Amino acid sequence: MVVLLAQPDGGPCWVEVTDGEVEGALAAGDGLEVEPDEEVTVTSGATEGLCATLLGILEPGDEVILIEPCFDSYAPISALAKAKIRYVSLKLPDFSLPREELAEHFNSKTKAIIINTPHNPTGKVFTIEELTFIASLCEKYDAYIISDEVYEHLVYDGRKHVTLLSVPGLKARSFVISSTAKTLSMTGWKQGWVLAAPKLSCAVRMSHQYIVFCGQSPLQKAVAFGIDATDRYYAQLLADYARRREWLCSALQKLGFKVYVPEGTYYVLVDITPLGFDDDLVFCRMLPEKAGVAAIPCSVFWNNRRRGRNLVRFCFCKKDETLGEGIRRLKNWLG
Ligand code: PMP
Repeated sequence: MVVLLAQPDGGPCWVEVTDGEVEGALAAGDGLEVEPDEEVTVTSGATEGLCATLLGILEPGDEVILIEPCFDSYAPISALAKAKIRYVSLKLPDFSLPREELAEHFNSKTKAIIINTPHNPTGKVFTIEELTFIASLCEKYDAYIISDEVYEHLVYDGRKHVTLLSVPGLKARSFVISSTAKTLSMTGWKQGWVLAAPKLSCAVRMSHQYIVFCGQSPLQKAVAFGIDATDRYYAQLLADYARRREWLCSALQKLGFKVYVPEGTYYVLVDITPLGFDDDLVFCRMLPEKAGVAAIPCSVFWNNRRRGRNLVRFCFCKKDETLGEGIRRLKNWLG
């Protein structure tokens, strides 16, 4: 298997893993070196990578900070580890990080913060300033950073994905998690990895061993074949998604939704209130019945569900004909 990492200059670098064994060394950009044997753990998707990491480092009573809206597995896994969760909400309309509020949530019990960039569901791409700010808090309170970077290749408008491992001084406290799910459009294959310093990787492997014991080597070989792609593949992937992003965003805008154009990922958040709706759950239950289209109610990404009740998430990881048909159906109902 070849594990790809996006670098700040946009170029990929890679490490080979065969039959669960790692071969070769990885020289990443900005003077960063990742030792494959000791610093790369291949997991059953990012989902298991997150689980193995959180269960590996959290003790009952530890505190973990989640930035909401957030991916739905973070809270249940933290709860499984008996950690206390503290939530900080991104601020609309630009989903900016409320720095003072975040700083107030850190204390001597803070064991970790989870960052997701590019971010599901908002499409936000954290800036280097935001990452550096979070890093400084983690250094001050001796906390770990878990960085979920599964959408690392889907960043638009010339922006660059910044992997946490490239932020100076962070390697000793960072776990960078990613997978092939979004990059190779194979969400069900569950091939992921955790990059972390040797001591931290040991913690991940302690729980990885008792969750799945090992990954699926035949799938790793198949994924290696796909992931060993040229730069052209990644450029084409991004160009295709950028085109679908424009297509879906402009169609949703024309239908009257307030659209939050994503900086990254393959999701689009819309505000449903301009169309006279005020409850995302009601809207998303109605949508398949009335239009034959499905979307995700965004209140599920917040701990306090009142927060995202005006927001719905559409996605554009679809073939052109499916996306076109979905838009046609929405127009039929709302147009
Ligand atoms: N993290 C985020 C932010 C995701 O959106 C997803 C998939 N929706 C995952 C992790 C899970 O990735 P995988 O399929 O590799 O387990």
